[in-house]
Amino acid sequence: MALVVQKYGGTSVANCNRIKRVAERVIARKEEGDDVVVVLSAMAGQTNYLIDLALEMQAHPDPRELDVLLSTGEQVTIALFSMAVKEMGQDARSFLGYQVPVETDSAHSKARIQNIPTSKLQEAISKGIIPVVAGFQGVSSTGDITTLGRGGSDTTAVAVAVSLDADVCEIYTDVDGVYTTDPNICPSARKIERISYEEMLEMASLGAKVLEIRSVEFAMRYGMPIHVRSSFTGTPGTMVVKEDELMEDVLVSSVTYSRDEARITIKKVPDRPGIAAMIFNPISDANIIVDMIIQNTRAGDLTDMTFTVPKGDFDQAMSIVEKTAEKIGAESVAGDKNIAKVSIIGVGMRNHAGIASRMFDILARHNVNILMISTSEIKVSCIIDEKYTELAVRALHEGFGLDKK
Ligand code: ADP
Ligand code: ASP
Ligand code: MG
Repeated sequence: MALVVQKYGGTSVANCNRIKRVAERVIARKEEGDDVVVVLSAMAGQTNYLIDLALEMQAHPDPRELDVLLSTGEQVTIALFSMAVKEMGQDARSFLGYQVPVETDSAHSKARIQNIPTSKLQEAISKGIIPVVAGFQGVSSTGDITTLGRGGSDTTAVAVAVSLDADVCEIYTDVDGVYTTDPNICPSARKIERISYEEMLEMASLGAKVLEIRSVEFAMRYGMPIHVRSSFTGTPGTMVVKEDELMEDVLVSSVTYSRDEARITIKKVPDRPGIAAMIFNPISDANIIVDMIIQNTRAGDLTDMTFTVPKGDFDQAMSIVEKTAEKIGAESVAGDKNIAKVSIIGVGMRNHAGIASRMFDILARHNVNILMISTSEIKVSCIIDEKYTELAVRALHEGFGLDKK
């Protein structure tokens, strides 16, 4: 008998029929003898719909009220699901974030989970009741509702699994596992049977939204195995586990892309000590994560500074940078939202040279211009024009021999 946490994503609970199918699955698993704790997302499209409503009220929605609004998406699915289970003759109980409680810090819309006391969930389990937890939401120490950031139900699921010391965390979604690249834009992508936390973490942070990055961080830190699988079929999916000798040491194991970045350039910045700190401190104070940075020296004592931020933070970052530019006497600030980041990932890169230049060759052969480059031990990323994203992904997937045989 195992304790399993199962998370179902938005497409898996997109309407009442699908919620009933999920309820049947969960009940079947329980009848096999396992204890199941369920974590649910909102119905597909619901969180976007709620964001649009908020934007009709305020250009920059109040963070506290926005979280109150967004958390309602998951409130709907956990209640409907619990009803479906009861109708089928088993018992279930819904838990909102504050009822578990899922304790977080108070950073609205990007809150971090700090602790999940499990006594209420344990009590339900011991009575044979299926606990059904709202993903994506928590409660701060001041009693305010918080949300964890887009895709955050994955993180709720893994954090609940870790807190309960579950045997496995199963993430049910609309694809049947983690692929060598997004199967929805590259039909020749292959399913990966086992992947290390480390590679999965790179993939998630570089745009493979099949798992939210913090869920992988949690799983890696506590050694919680994740099984990514389809909620529509019974086939085994992908196991995300500790790196082991069974794993192939392939050079490049996956290709990812992200359209979630924007680029900001500050032109003709005085080149003297302290300038970078003056530019980037106010951005980090605003909780905005800067990804790539490049600095080009011009003739004389002037330099151009270019960096990327998440697209959602672009407007705020631009207004911060415009103020800084004036203060430090830079010439001008330019922004570009039509960029994408394509990356290749593989633990085998640690011991091999020449992978980055192969990537540049492949992109050049397809006439894709590279705007920025960054590398780490196990990945290489290039910023390109957004309109070449799919072309670049397919070219790299083929070029590194990842296509289905
Ligand atoms: P859910 O709503 O179930 O959380 P998501 O939309 O967040 O689902 O994540 C699943 C999607 O992730 C897939 O439909 C697929 O388009 C995308 N995806 C991106 N990269 C990959 C990859 N390497 N393997 C599998 N899916 C990927
Ligand atoms: N409903 C939230 C979102 O759409 C959380 C999730 O689905 O994981 O981002
Ligand atoms: Mg998701």
